[in-house]
Amino acid sequence: MRRTAVVLGGGPAGLMAAEVLAAGGAEVHLYDAMRSVGRKFLLAGKGGLNLTHSEALDAFVRRYGAREKEIDAMLGRFGPQALRDWAAALGIDTFVGSSGRVFPRDMKAAPLLRAWLQRLRAQGVMFHMRHRWVGWAPAGGLRFDAPQGEAVLQPEVLVLALGGASWSRLGSDGAWVDLLLQRGVAVAPLRPSNCGFEVDWSAHFATRHAGQALKSVAIELPAASWRQVGEFIVSGYGIEGSLVYAASAALREAIDAHGQTTLHLDLLPARSLEWVSAELAHPRGSRSLSTHLKSRLGVSGVKAALLYEVADKATLADAARLAALSKALPLTLKAARPIDEAISSAGGVRFEALDDTLMLRDLPGVFCAGEMLDWEAPTGGYLLSACFASGRVAGEGARDWLARLRTPSPGSRGTAIL
Ligand SMILES: Cc1cc2nc3c(=O)[nH]c(=O)nc-3n(C[C@H](O)[C@H](O)[C@H](O)COP(=O)(O)OP(=O)(O)OC[C@H]3O[C@@H](n4cnc5c(N)ncnc54)[C@H](O)[C@@H]3O)c2cc1C
Repeated sequence: MRRTAVVLGGGPAGLMAAEVLAAGGAEVHLYDAMRSVGRKFLLAGKGGLNLTHSEALDAFVRRYGAREKEIDAMLGRFGPQALRDWAAALGIDTFVGSSGRVFPRDMKAAPLLRAWLQRLRAQGVMFHMRHRWVGWAPAGGLRFDAPQGEAVLQPEVLVLALGGASWSRLGSDGAWVDLLLQRGVAVAPLRPSNCGFEVDWSAHFATRHAGQALKSVAIELPAASWRQVGEFIVSGYGIEGSLVYAASAALREAIDAHGQTTLHLDLLPARSLEWVSAELAHPRGSRSLSTHLKSRLGVSGVKAALLYEVADKATLADAARLAALSKALPLTLKAARPIDEAISSAGGVRFEALDDTLMLRDLPGVFCAGEMLDWEAPTGGYLLSACFASGRVAGEGARDWLARLRTPSPGSRGTAIL
């Protein structure tokens, strides 16, 4: 007898859970609110699909911060190399870029998704698009808004893989949070992660420099003992881009706690303060300060403009103070940008609410996976890695749950929700 499994959400986490369940012999039905699956995954491929990262696993798992332990356990079952092997089995070879990030050979998501969906269909996975899950029916079962009207389903096992709350037009809108809270599941509020931040630029600076990149700079967060070299972009509202995203968790927390926060920007991370001071101390004669900055420090364009934006007249006139500013330029951030603009979400179903198989302790037979779990990580392939791994773990948990239903043991729990 085949058992029926339902997966809600056709992002990488849900598709992975569906694959494991189908391989385990279940009849798998995957429901998604959108017209097609994997919308955010496809978007991720637009800028070059960063599948995972090649760094050593101990460094890799540290990227998950407070959730290192939980994600480590999942990556132990489906880690970065397993992900690359899995992609290769779909005919998608990967390579390691100069930054250590791992990409498909052609950088795109579409060929991988196409090959994957073909394999899932061949495995018998049934896709039901434009079915929005809207909660549980009073008498039990899952309620959907579907093209034919409301539908109610009674699966034997359920995997929720509903994503976070960024880029809601691609399907993940976080509406599931209230549905789970109503069932007593502990959910940490969804917050923007890998997001931009607002800065009160002068109109002069914003109009001239929005869209320009600050390359080879370091962001330092003294309170969090955090420093990283990289690049980011000045935008009309403030700052965004990979280095800012990497700092985003600490910046968001600091703004939550204090209303605003100040980061320090090192415009010359490869140079010591002593070197910068000595260079600026050279007499500049009749040359302008801009020329002096450019010829002595190589600082020009948006970097020089930032010094003018932040420094007062006295600092601009004092070589030692200007040197100190170049090495630790304070930028005050007023707010994180809205979650809908973020690359990913922090918050979600708390791990305390889940067992090791990612099943909700209070809703036996319901498993959760992907970005809807309460973890966050910087960009660099860490997001997809954890989504795939958690989809795998939840899929295996759901598969084993179904197997136990088939051969109930005296102490086994029944399905509470379905
Ligand atoms: C611009 C951008 C670029 C990115 N680039 C990368 C990258 O290069 N590398 C990387 O690691 N990560 C990247 N990410 C992040 C990565 O794409 C996500 O972390 C990942 O897609 C999350 O997978 P998921 O399966 O948990 O959820 P999602 O991919 O969000 O899928 C969730 C699915 O659930 C469906 N759904 C939601 N609610 C309901 C409901 N009530 N009923 C039915 N269906 C519902 C949605 O329609 C959606 O299809 C990027 C994100 C963005 C926005």
